[in-house]
Amino acid sequence: MKEIRVRFAPSPTGPLHIGGVRTALYNYLFAKKNNGKIILRIEDTDQTRFVPGAEHYIVESLDWCGIRFDESDLVGGAFGPYRQSDRKTMYKQYCDLLLANGNAYYAFDTVEELDAARKDCEQHKKIFIYNSESRKTLRNSLNMSVEEVDSRLKKGEPFVVRFCIPENTEIEMTDLIRGNIKVHSNTLDDKVLFKSDGMPTYHLANIVDDHLMKISHVIRGEEWLPSMPLHILLYKALGWEAPNFAHLPLLLKPDGNGKLSKRDGDRLGFPVFPLQWTDPATGLVSSGYRESGYYPEAFVNMLALLGWNPGTDQELFSMDELIEAFSLERVGKSGAKFDHEKTKWFNHQYLIRKPENELGKEYFEWLSLNKKVSTTVEFATKVAALIKERVNFVHELWNESFFFFEPPVSYDEQVVKKRWKENSAEQMRELTKLLSEMHDFSSEKIDALLHDWMNEKTYSMGAVMNALRLLLVGTSKGPHLAAIMMLLGKQETIKRIEIGIETLK
Ligand code: GLU
Repeated sequence: MKEIRVRFAPSPTGPLHIGGVRTALYNYLFAKKNNGKIILRIEDTDQTRFVPGAEHYIVESLDWCGIRFDESDLVGGAFGPYRQSDRKTMYKQYCDLLLANGNAYYAFDTVEELDAARKDCEQHKKIFIYNSESRKTLRNSLNMSVEEVDSRLKKGEPFVVRFCIPENTEIEMTDLIRGNIKVHSNTLDDKVLFKSDGMPTYHLANIVDDHLMKISHVIRGEEWLPSMPLHILLYKALGWEAPNFAHLPLLLKPDGNGKLSKRDGDRLGFPVFPLQWTDPATGLVSSGYRESGYYPEAFVNMLALLGWNPGTDQELFSMDELIEAFSLERVGKSGAKFDHEKTKWFNHQYLIRKPENELGKEYFEWLSLNKKVSTTVEFATKVAALIKERVNFVHELWNESFFFFEPPVSYDEQVVKKRWKENSAEQMRELTKLLSEMHDFSSEKIDALLHDWMNEKTYSMGAVMNALRLLLVGTSKGPHLAAIMMLLGKQETIKRIEIGIETLK
């Protein structure tokens, strides 16, 4: 069997959208599943759309996701260079071949002439395309003598080379996700392949590189489906075998239809880029999944299930499990709706499954960076373990656990009004006495003591516990009270109760 070789071929025109990350991911999973290779090729032939920093951003994003390439500009490989601007000189010969075998022609139409043709069509309620019909009357080598073409070229007149789409034929194609597709050639336009500045366009460079790099499967977004007939024709015209094609479904906005855009993210408050991106032209910052506190494993897991399903109820997959389970047969044809709540759910699942010491270390590092509290990894670990079920992100731990690291400096007025009763101080004083006599300050023992004491005194459990929580936490929130007390320790617990009694006098 032919070796499986796939490529991810982004254009460095800005940050990589999460749809692009998913394309890279599916290519990666497909390659690894089939013992194949995945190549990163940078498609930067359109210099007018070049954005500084974008290539670096793409490489860093994919690396964060754990998508590793077998061949790329960075890791090298036998089919390089892997950046199209470094391959510039390779394309002209194929353009010449297409010109020589009659599959391409020179076009000298000026921008003004094409505009006029477009306007003319609009007046007749038609859409202008440069095709088998219109090319008969436009300024191109099909309508000129060889001498005229030569003389224009010699004079250095600007030109483009266009592909000559065959007239009146049905183009039949197979897509691994969409099945058989038929397109009539008269609906296609004669796309530009090459420009007089010596640069190929996307279409030519893409085909030539896929061929030279021995790509077996082209797996890319649905937005490239309209280019597939042209690409199939180009392979044929160059006498090459076409690779297999698979066009992935679009990522749709959470509400309504249409492609998920950066605007949807801004509007609904979630990132559409893997990493934070600062636009070099405007300085505008767009949020990223990494900086928003997502684990790459959770992000990848979520993306994998947007358009592909394993055919079972399983939702949590490590990268290795994804590789094992992935197949193009289970990729859907219709668009996949992005669901931000589900994305957070995935992060929660990964967070609660982290080994306790790892989560503790992450929280400790977050605390050191963001809060001026003195604590230890051990203590941060215990706190994180106690409250992790309540949060989706490491940075959310603080809001649920600040009281472990700093004693209350004030007491929530509403709660005081509701919970601090006339006899509360007396009850709390009784309690400190009992607590101070304890040896084993475990949460079980504290629970037992509280229970017995309240029973004996026939105190209302709600009233006592709420008052106690107020003194320890400063408000009415937090996990199980005995667990809080155990973590604070006997001394700190008693100290907080005493200070509270004094303050609320
Ligand atoms: N350079 C194209 C892009 O930016 C690649 C399309 C393809 O995979 O053929 O999406």
